[in-house]
Order: sequence, then structure tokens, then C-alpha cells
Amino acid sequence: MQIELKPCPFCNGSASYAYFVRSRNSTQQFVVCDDCGAESKLCDSREEAAAAWNKRPYDAKVNGLRPCPFCGGKAKYESSLYVKPLQDENGAYVDYDEMYYWERTYCTECGAEISSESDDDEEEITITKWNRR
Ligand SMILES: [Zn+2]
Ligand SMILES: [Zn+2]
Repeated sequence: MQIELKPCPFCNGSASYAYFVRSRNSTQQFVVCDDCGAESKLCDSREEAAAAWNKRPYDAKVNGLRPCPFCGGKAKYESSLYVKPLQDENGAYVDYDEMYYWERTYCTECGAEISSESDDDEEEITITKWNRR
């Protein structure tokens, strides 16, 4: 049985279950927003991922980076040059492809994040998305 997912706390978009294949016998479950790509933290089960995604105890009211909408934790921004992962039809990462600039704004407490890829390393897209509530 699947737990119903709340809409995205950043853009109110609909959310879906996704998973990350860590090795042959190990997958990590998470929830991702269909519209803006926000992700919950990685969990061992779908139930845990849904609980992490659906948790909304805090109202964010701070200048700069707003606290995490899931746990109220402190947010951070980082960017780097990265290698693009290839995904299979289920959204699992199976291989690696070209290089690209990568940035993310994430929660230092629970690991929730918004990440983005771009050709321009100057753009801080994820901060705008993180703060949009
Ligand atoms: Zn969203
Ligand atoms: Zn958090």
C-alpha cells in the first residue's frame, strides 16, 4: 500500500516516489517533485521517504536561505562541476554521461535538497527555488 504524498512545499507541484540504486542489492528510496525536482532525503523504505516528505512542522521566516520546510534545519548552498548520471526508465541512476555544472541548496539536518544542472556556473537557481514558499 502506498502512502499518499503531499504536494511539494516549494512549488505546490505533485510528488512521486523515486529510488536510487546504490549497488546490486541496495536501493535508496526518496520522493521527488514532478515540477521543480525538489527531493526528500534518501531513506531505506518508501514509507520512511513518504514520512520525511510529508513532514511539515515549521513555517520558514528567515532572511537569506530559509530553513528547511521539512524539519526546520539550516540550509546551505554549494555548486561544483559534475558528471551527469544516466537514468533508466524507472528513474534509477545506472551510469554516467557528460560533465556539467551542478548546484544544490540543501538542509544540513535531514538532507532534503533542490539541485539543478546548468551550462552557466554563475546562476543560483536552487536558492530562488528553495526560498519560494
Ligand atoms: Zn516542487
Ligand atoms: Zn531538513
